[in-house]
Amino acid sequence: MDSDWQSIDLANPTEEHAMLRKMIRSFVSEEVEPQALEYDKFEKFNQELFRKLGDYGLLGISVPEDYGGSGMDATAVAIVNEELSYSDPGFCLAYLAHAQLMVNNLAHNGSDEQKSRILPKVCSGEWIGCMAMSEPGYGTDVLGMQTSAELNSDGNWVINGRKMWITNGSIDDESTPADICWLYARTGTDSKGRAQITTFLVEKDMPGFSVGQKIYDKTGMRASNTAELVFDNCIVPPENVVGGPGESMIHMMRNLEIERIGLAAMALGIARRSLDAMNRYASEREAFGNEIRNFGQIQRHIGESWAEYRAMRSYVYDTARNTDLSKSGNRLDTDGVKLYATTAAKNIADRAIQVMGGYGYVGEYVVERLWRDSKLLEIGGGTLESHQKNITRDLAKMPEKINE
Ligand SMILES: Cc1cc2nc3c(=O)[nH]c(=O)nc-3n(C[C@H](O)[C@H](O)[C@H](O)COP(=O)(O)OP(=O)(O)OC[C@H]3O[C@@H](n4cnc5c(N)ncnc54)[C@H](O)[C@@H]3O)c2cc1C
Repeated sequence: MDSDWQSIDLANPTEEHAMLRKMIRSFVSEEVEPQALEYDKFEKFNQELFRKLGDYGLLGISVPEDYGGSGMDATAVAIVNEELSYSDPGFCLAYLAHAQLMVNNLAHNGSDEQKSRILPKVCSGEWIGCMAMSEPGYGTDVLGMQTSAELNSDGNWVINGRKMWITNGSIDDESTPADICWLYARTGTDSKGRAQITTFLVEKDMPGFSVGQKIYDKTGMRASNTAELVFDNCIVPPENVVGGPGESMIHMMRNLEIERIGLAAMALGIARRSLDAMNRYASEREAFGNEIRNFGQIQRHIGESWAEYRAMRSYVYDTARNTDLSKSGNRLDTDGVKLYATTAAKNIADRAIQVMGGYGYVGEYVVERLWRDSKLLEIGGGTLESHQKNITRDLAKMPEKINE
């Protein structure tokens, strides 16, 4: 038996992970925290700060070093997301859309030529990427997607359709599209009417690619841009197709797993910050001649939040430890951890507002922003209901998992 097993901290299992956390925590307190309130208020994406993440090796956190990345694992991804979301989940969502939805996907599924050509640009921050799966009429029901691609006689692909809700779809208020879009499109239909899906790497200047509308007035995650993307006879050359036509279901499923860990880790950062805020406030605030932490009802808010935070932390890092980024196969727990952690974060942020009374309800005290941001985590990357559906389906196939 490994004599060290009792000393392992799931959230910082190696020295390298602990150093990464320390580095990012100091970056967050110096550079992310001071801008968070303003960028949320004005619904702006902080492009300059985003590109700086490239200098720290964070944009290609899970990309092999040969291609300009940091060569780290799912635990490292969770660490970065947790720490960024402690201060600014909206900024972290833009990071997740780039680093996990686009860059990680290319690193694990692209050809050597595509990786050599594109990864150094997206790892450094020269290019900003997005991933486009959802459509105006199809979200959870993703295999119903209507965006289609047809092979032209000259060997190029012609894409038509619209994608909706795309984080980083536009990188500014001038409708400048992402430099590169990981696009899922239908290239055929199977006998059950479901889409056969192919991935296209659509670059900013390819003809027929544009931003439709930028989506304003979101409840939360306002420091990230969300846009509709339009593909109007968009021409994509064959070297920008990932894998063979119709083979992308596996990319999509595999990458959804890391997305879900990433979103659950964001929830963890929200929970930790909210708990920290309510715990401090409960000692500072007095009512009826007493610190409010002496009231039983406040103790319930803090006590339950601590227990849920600790449970989230264990589940997030246990799932990350068991997830190999180059394979799919951890759907049960990636769905499970996102299902649990996102609602727990929303509830903990809600309790923080309650403990802090009127102060909790205004921007300066942060927790109202975290509460607004947390709601997206119950929708994006799979709704709560889709996780419930997947878990129930998987447990029917693998009932032995329960008694393992
Ligand atoms: C801020 C933001 C950023 C986003 N970023 C991206 C991005 O970068 N890229 C991208 O591709 N997408 C992105 N999305 C889209 C997101 O993934 C979808 O919103 C999500 O998958 C849900 O799809 P929908 O909104 O179409 O809702 P629908 O799928 O229409 O769901 C509506 C309701 O019906 C329920 N429902 C649907 N099917 C079932 C079922 N079988 N059983 C039970 N209930 C069901 C859902 O759970 C939900 O409650 C983003 C969304 C937002 C809001």
